[in-house]
Amino acid sequence: MDILLVEDEPHLAEQVSRALIQAGHAVTVAVDGPGAVKKATGSRCDLVVLDVNLPGYDGFEVLSRIRATRLPVRVLMLTARSEVGDRVAGLKAGADDYLTKPFALEELLARVDVLGRRNVAPEADIVYRIGDLCMDMGKRRVSRGDRPLELSPREFEVLQIFMKEPGRTFSRDEICERIWEREHEYDTRTVEIFIMRLRKKLDRPGEESVIRTIRSVGYMLNSAP
Ligand code: CA
Repeated sequence: MDILLVEDEPHLAEQVSRALIQAGHAVTVAVDGPGAVKKATGSRCDLVVLDVNLPGYDGFEVLSRIRATRLPVRVLMLTARSEVGDRVAGLKAGADDYLTKPFALEELLARVDVLGRRNVAPEADIVYRIGDLCMDMGKRRVSRGDRPLELSPREFEVLQIFMKEPGRTFSRDEICERIWEREHEYDTRTVEIFIMRLRKKLDRPGEESVIRTIRSVGYMLNSAP
């Protein structure tokens, strides 16, 4: 993948970019907010690894400026461990995933792999259809009626859980475990944000949501959206 690394700490930037290059990625580095936006939107870029605290303006501002361009760039945010609010804010602003500092390089590479999944071989040639919602596993495409939907890899994974077993209720904990099984920093708030993001993309105004909340249990896919 073409990766833009936005990190103002030179030592960390060098370590991370070396690891990414060794893993076969092409890496460009930006060290401040304005530089990051310019590089993310001005040249070919599949993924931005984005630090929150940056000179110029911060990672959230960079994220919102990238999202405003509607370019299909994936964003992995690097947040401080103590700042739960940062993580929530980042996901709400459209980050595809987050990693808290300090992190192990292997963990970063694993997250980058997840975010790059759309570029690798399809897993199975199955198409799930529930009502007018359609999920093509081979092409990794989702559509509602004739409207194609742009889902991030994580959003895709969450929706997939529901599409495979429509009519079943999943608790927040179960969704958490299925998506973030090997990662220890998840929490159920993360699931809530992903459900919110999916509803925003899937639902039609004025209609019942595709994903129903089952009070004090979890979520279920509406069987006939
Ligand atoms: Ca920083």
